[in-house]
Amino acid sequence: MPIRIFGDPVLRKKAQVIENIDGSIDRLARGMMESLNQARGLGLAAPQVGHSKALCIINLPLMNEKIKHPLVLINPKIHLREGEVNYEEGCLSFPGIYVDVKRPQKIALTGLDLDGNEMEYEAGDILARVFLHETDHLNGVLLIDHLSTIKRQLLKNKLKKLKQE
Ligand code: ZN
Repeated sequence: MPIRIFGDPVLRKKAQVIENIDGSIDRLARGMMESLNQARGLGLAAPQVGHSKALCIINLPLMNEKIKHPLVLINPKIHLREGEVNYEEGCLSFPGIYVDVKRPQKIALTGLDLDGNEMEYEAGDILARVFLHETDHLNGVLLIDHLSTIKRQLLKNKLKKLKQE
């Protein structure tokens, strides 16, 4: 599944809550896992492959080699945000762009797995950042929305180029 680049309107849409975890959701998750592996990214949200559904994949094996499978997260909701860290961040939908983004240091979230089980997670630092980045995507919020006007202005030409491609 090709990854959509900044300028594609699907990236700005609020993703639909998934009511039914059927075969189409399973196929979507599998396709996304493949795309994420190929791109060697930390996470991928369904809108990034053109599906406006509240589903994202976190590439846990890339962060911890002891973990064998990526995490599929359906309808995620952040319940707690604590602290603040500034750290460099990129996005598969913004190739070549890396910017410092302030985010909470620690979070707690809930969501469903592919079998419909309610899951609860706590995360800090990089993992918290990936969870926040991906849930942002499901709300149509992008990396650049976290930047000051001045910083965004500095990226103007690069962003224009991405949009044209
Ligand atoms: Zn992203």
